[in-house]
Amino acid sequence: MSHDPTLVVAKFGGTSVATPARWRVIADVLRTRIAQGAHPVIVCSAVSGVSNALEGLLAEHTDADATRDRLEDLRAVHRTLAEGLGLPGDLVDAQIDELESSLDAARALGELSPRTRARIMAAGELMSTRIGATWLTAEGIDVAWTDARDLLTAEALEDAPDGRHWLSATCGFERDEALRTQLLGAASATLTQGFIAHNPQGDTVLLGRGGSDTSAAYLAARLGADRLEIWTDVDGLYSANPRAVPTARRLRRVSYAEAANMAALGAKVLHPRCIGPVRQAGIPLWIKSTQDPSATGTVIGVDHGEDGIRAVTSRKQLAFFTMRRDPTWQPVGFLADVTARFKAHGFSIDLISTSSGVIQATVDMAAAPLADDALDRLMADLETVCTPTLRRDVASVSLVGRNLRGSLPDLGPAMEALEAARVGMVTTGANDAHVTFVVRADEVDELATMLHGAVFGRGAAPALSSAVVRLAHPGAA
Ligand code: ADP
Ligand code: ASP
Ligand code: MG
Repeated sequence: MSHDPTLVVAKFGGTSVATPARWRVIADVLRTRIAQGAHPVIVCSAVSGVSNALEGLLAEHTDADATRDRLEDLRAVHRTLAEGLGLPGDLVDAQIDELESSLDAARALGELSPRTRARIMAAGELMSTRIGATWLTAEGIDVAWTDARDLLTAEALEDAPDGRHWLSATCGFERDEALRTQLLGAASATLTQGFIAHNPQGDTVLLGRGGSDTSAAYLAARLGADRLEIWTDVDGLYSANPRAVPTARRLRRVSYAEAANMAALGAKVLHPRCIGPVRQAGIPLWIKSTQDPSATGTVIGVDHGEDGIRAVTSRKQLAFFTMRRDPTWQPVGFLADVTARFKAHGFSIDLISTSSGVIQATVDMAAAPLADDALDRLMADLETVCTPTLRRDVASVSLVGRNLRGSLPDLGPAMEALEAARVGMVTTGANDAHVTFVVRADEVDELATMLHGAVFGRGAAPALSSAVVRLAHPGAA
């Protein structure tokens, strides 16, 4: 469906909003789109490193000196950016002062609620967009700074332990014509924050770390955008993390399903929840690089119909549980007993493998907003139904693609690459779209490189259409 004018949502990640040079790329994108008669909606992350620094502030808020030092670092980062753009260095000082008051209050109270944590983390995106909007306006671009909390509303989460509601919320993304009309009428372009939304009570909530991609996807669906662009520090979705696997190659076209699986299994360039909204609304998603804006990028869209392995992905920060049932215990309902406990403690099981007396499962701690002591409580509760052991900080490496199970016997070279590794668990996705190995965190980068080499070859990248490895199962070319 085409609209007049067209609307494009473009998300710029942390490194893409961190320097004056990157803001000049953003200005170019805006000017080009406006000249084409489109209304760009720009969704910005916090400046690179700022969300981590805010998490550090939360972790150390009881130490007044450390808090002050960290706040001064944050002030300096934003001052450098603002001054580099020719703006007053104190543009976000009021926000830093507000952070200081919130942290002082939390220290005095002896309590830092998830609600307050969310408000503090939100400051990163509010500061980057304050600087960006001021500069773009000074550049003569008619852009309206808009509070993302007026654009996205979190869904109520039934049964969720407290933290998740504020720290890893999901939002509705049904199309909203009135909102579209409002933005189109306000200015030639809109600038807003990723990562933040409000809940029905009006509190600030977060969409989970890395969630700005998902903010942009929700907005694209709500506004009926013609396309969504994710501008980042790589020029596309690759067959492996290009920073860890030197022979990784860019994929030109990827289906929504493949991209969703790659994101869920560790392709960090996309937040795992960002595919659903654009897939449902049929909006193409482009990945583009602010370091190389004219590079083609990757387009994610409807299924392009290829079977076989398309990528090797990896994740760290997994918690790995092995749960053994005492043979004398009631065998019926062991799996249900175990999964109910994960749910009750707010943990979502990520990978699972079961046999009659042993269940192995992982939880992705990078995606779990809950504190570490929640793991201890879960372990204590599991002990009432089994003998559990827990290894923190393990990793997974996955072969991701389509129709993989029929091809398992042909995964020989990949299995050889794993021969020397200490594999804790192997699972194949019920969706037949991945084979995943749970391995030691210190071995995972090397294993990903070896697997990628075994599957795709170690040499130069071929053109994309042949980059899809067809496993030699009947009917495959
Ligand atoms: P942003 O701050 O722009 O959101 P992220 O750091 O979240 O950027 O995501 C970009 C990073 O994702 C890249 O720098 C790259 O190292 C990593 N990455 C991991 N897997 C992949 C992959 N398969 N393709 C491309 N990038 C990947
Ligand atoms: N700034 C947030 C984070 O670093 C959200 C994002 O950048 O996607 O997690
Ligand atoms: Mg990101």
